[in-house]
Amino acid sequence: MTHPATRAVRSGLVSDRHHHAVVPPIHLTANFAFPAFGTKGRYDYGRSGNPTRDLLSAALAELEGGAGGVVTATGMAAVTLVLQLVPAGGRVVAPHDCYGGTHRLLSGLARRGLLDVAFVDQRDLPEVEAALAVPTRLLWIESPSNPLLRLTDIETVARLGRAAGALVAADNTFLSPVLQRPLESGADVVVHSTTKYLNGHSDVVGGAVVAKDATVHQELCWWANCLGLVGAPFDSFLTLRGLRTLHVRIREHVANARAIVDLLHHHPAVREVHYPGIGAMVSFTLAGGVEAVPVFLDGLQHFTLAESLGGVESLVAHPATMTHASMDEETRRRAGIGGDLLRLSVGIEAAEDLVADLHAALDRALPLATAAR
Ligand code: PLP
Repeated sequence: MTHPATRAVRSGLVSDRHHHAVVPPIHLTANFAFPAFGTKGRYDYGRSGNPTRDLLSAALAELEGGAGGVVTATGMAAVTLVLQLVPAGGRVVAPHDCYGGTHRLLSGLARRGLLDVAFVDQRDLPEVEAALAVPTRLLWIESPSNPLLRLTDIETVARLGRAAGALVAADNTFLSPVLQRPLESGADVVVHSTTKYLNGHSDVVGGAVVAKDATVHQELCWWANCLGLVGAPFDSFLTLRGLRTLHVRIREHVANARAIVDLLHHHPAVREVHYPGIGAMVSFTLAGGVEAVPVFLDGLQHFTLAESLGGVESLVAHPATMTHASMDEETRRRAGIGGDLLRLSVGIEAAEDLVADLHAALDRALPLATAAR
């Protein structure tokens, strides 16, 4: 069996039958000519199918170990696509601390009566079981969660979901198939915002769904075409290019994150560190509270204040006012997302520069931490 790193590099290479290009060309076309009246080629129209997009779908399906993938225009389009598998008014059980956009979409559809949504703490298995006691069509998992990086035991929770007759979906955006393969742990579909680690260069917004089962994959393809959720060929080309270096990037991201976690654990300006021991997303609270946030941020040079994550460049985000601003305050409080929480997406710059940068910014915030004690 070929190593996944080899598959990520080689999937789809030399697939161009005309010129034998090593790197598959981009097919920038809206439509494809019919060979003759009444006969259709492999492709007819760009919403229904595109060779560049198909290469990316196939590569992602290989890496996640699924029967097939669907590449979507955004990560939220991927979430929307999976929700088409739930009948009108069907029940969805989801984590209470999932990505703000997913939470907003599920809450919005619930408000319109299109879904019946129960948000639960998925670390609390009795709470998950109680939620699943009501007939459920979809169990949504996001692990590690955004932004507190709480781990869900996918195998156990997926087993509970399947036993209750629910389809199990796992958002694997934060770890990528290099570090976690939810289909092997019992999930039926895996969701990605490919905007993040899979593309890895912060120059594309995209998404994907990979299904374990060919029938589910076919149903997803049908809905993606029907609703027009599909990703663009140029974005697919860039994402496939990004995917080639996924394994190397993840290695560097993780090594840098570990060096940073070590600093955070020892610096007195930090109150609490959230790092699940895997991946390169880290969040922490400042001992100086909300007042220390701008002081710390102003001291950073190598971390850009920006949304998103998973790119080669290091970013810092303030979830309460950025990624999770669409959650109301009470929901954020229940999820544990306070105004003193910061989230780092650790890039692949030199570890010593990142550590020195954070050290200097934390030193600036230290007087506020001392005053708060
Ligand atoms: N899922 C997770 C875990 C995310 O962090 C995000 C975006 O931040 C999404 C889904 C949505 O992806 P996109 O922004 O590409 O629509």
